[in-house]
Amino acid sequence: MQYFRRFSLIRSTFRFISSVTVDVNSSTTQHELNEINKLMRTYNTTETPIRTVALFEWMLNIINIKPDFNCYLNIIRACGELDNINVCKKIQQFIENDRTLQINEYHQLQIKLIYMYAKIRNIEQAEKIFQRAKSAKGIPIDISLFGTMFKGYNMNGQPSKTVELYENEILNNKTIELDAIAATCVLTACSDCQRLDIGEYIHDEVLRLDLLNPPNLRLATSIMNMYCNCGSIDRAQEIFNQSLPIVDRIAYSSLMKTYLSINQPVQVLRLFEQSKSSSIRSDPVLYLNVINASNQLGLMHQAEYIHRLIPSHMIENNLLLIRGLIDMHSNCLHLTEAHRLFNLLEQKDNNSLASLLHGYAINGHGQQALNLFEKVKSELIFNEQVYKEILRACAFTGDLVDEARGIYQTIPDTYKTSQVAAAMVSILARASLFDQVESFIHQNKPRLQKAYHLWSAVFMVCYHAKNVEYAKSIYDEIIDDPLLSLLFADMTNSLPSNEIINYFRQEKPGICWTEIKHDDKSNYIIHEFQDNPLSENSELNIVINELKSVDVHWKTFENDLKELFCGHTATRLAIVKNLISTPPNTTIRLAKTKSTCHLCHEGIKQLSLLKKRDIILRDNIRVHHFHNGKCSCRDQF
Ligand SMILES: [Zn+2]
Ligand SMILES: [Zn+2]
Repeated sequence: MQYFRRFSLIRSTFRFISSVTVDVNSSTTQHELNEINKLMRTYNTTETPIRTVALFEWMLNIINIKPDFNCYLNIIRACGELDNINVCKKIQQFIENDRTLQINEYHQLQIKLIYMYAKIRNIEQAEKIFQRAKSAKGIPIDISLFGTMFKGYNMNGQPSKTVELYENEILNNKTIELDAIAATCVLTACSDCQRLDIGEYIHDEVLRLDLLNPPNLRLATSIMNMYCNCGSIDRAQEIFNQSLPIVDRIAYSSLMKTYLSINQPVQVLRLFEQSKSSSIRSDPVLYLNVINASNQLGLMHQAEYIHRLIPSHMIENNLLLIRGLIDMHSNCLHLTEAHRLFNLLEQKDNNSLASLLHGYAINGHGQQALNLFEKVKSELIFNEQVYKEILRACAFTGDLVDEARGIYQTIPDTYKTSQVAAAMVSILARASLFDQVESFIHQNKPRLQKAYHLWSAVFMVCYHAKNVEYAKSIYDEIIDDPLLSLLFADMTNSLPSNEIINYFRQEKPGICWTEIKHDDKSNYIIHEFQDNPLSENSELNIVINELKSVDVHWKTFENDLKELFCGHTATRLAIVKNLISTPPNTTIRLAKTKSTCHLCHEGIKQLSLLKKRDIILRDNIRVHHFHNGKCSCRDQF
């Protein structure tokens, strides 16, 4: 206890170390040093590094005790936490002047100094020490020196330097073997830089060197994350299934995020079910992934099911969850719930408002969108996204040209971007106000520099309205865009170029999801269908024949050019699945990743009449509600 009394002499305010040389007091005992080190460790672990530094200063200048190796380790750690470059440099100088340190001890301290400088974001100083330590005589180069430098680069947002150092000095020299820490660091860097080539090589090295024995969760997770971020989802799933010693929430979350990034929400939901059966407790991060998956799916009952699973106290205390839910319900046609949650927000924000406006827009509820926009006007300074969504709501509703024009006039110039202007011009084009379209583009061209975004928006309106003449007259204004070129060929019954044909043949097939009630229970099962021109399905053929009688020709053939315009067999198969497995008169709910073409649209309209079924289809642009041979979009896509 005597030391605690003596240590109470430490001034409460920090005084900078005044001297970098010290007289070694002969009365220094190992016992006293041990006590000091113990106290330093306590300060470091209780996050009071300033006390460690003050103690160090007191030890040198008041009681004249010379620090030992452990004492240096403690003070370096404290300096890294303290984030004060002057103190760090003094300590470095002190250690470099200490001739009593053994060469091996000095090398260990250099490694710690590299980490200290990396921690205070002085990577240049860390590099200098690294270079000196690497070329020091009498010490074999060890991997922990490299591991620390790798970690330093990663911490400072320079993963490419980690990869470069690994390639130049370890991969090409082949004189040092990786350890688990260094391998984890390089894999993290490969993940950030998307260097699958190096990442795969390190994975092989990990296996060759048996670094996953004993099991190492961090290393295994970093291999999986590397495959996730480099787009190699199958390998990532393989590691998830076979190599992780413990599958924890972090592992689930990483894999879920990857499936989300490649638009595979069903896989995210599968992982979520798996996590529940493995007794993993869901946290807000995991729930947010599931909410995002449900958002991508766009199916209402699934969205409601996910919402019910999340404990309400967790939602109430987590703004990200509330915003995620607003976005999900807006996208999944559950606007009452989205609006209820939006009203609960004490502080409204532009992102949530834009989500809700988007929901109204895609459903063609322009008036509700305008009411909401007016209501929150005084509470928020709107951003570009909000303006885009409110104009989109006016566009998808029709008859709101004056309202849209009024809003456009109030938009600050900085937010009148080409996308916002394109939304406005498409409203004018939908109302066939082509004179106004031309004067609008003429006025805005100098400000936006390029006008082809605006002309493209007008062209899309003409395509859907089958206004061939006007489309032809503006086609030269549009810059080469494979989709528009293809649509132009479709409109004018001409042949698209081989380049365009090849472009679309290589495109990823579209996906259509549908939710079908499972037995008598209230839960729904999601079915996924992919566009495949060769789908042979007897039930589908029956439907195709029925449609022929009302002059809709749904049959597509392999290599038929029509397949480029409409290879949407996924939607058709999803409808057929509903027709054969759900009771008559029930609503069919579909969500698809691509936009709906005229041929499909016409067919679905007819099916809603022939089969007396309401069909609700959310595509990547808007929602179509088919009822009794008509669509809520009034054939305006
Ligand atoms: Zn189609
Ligand atoms: Zn429609």
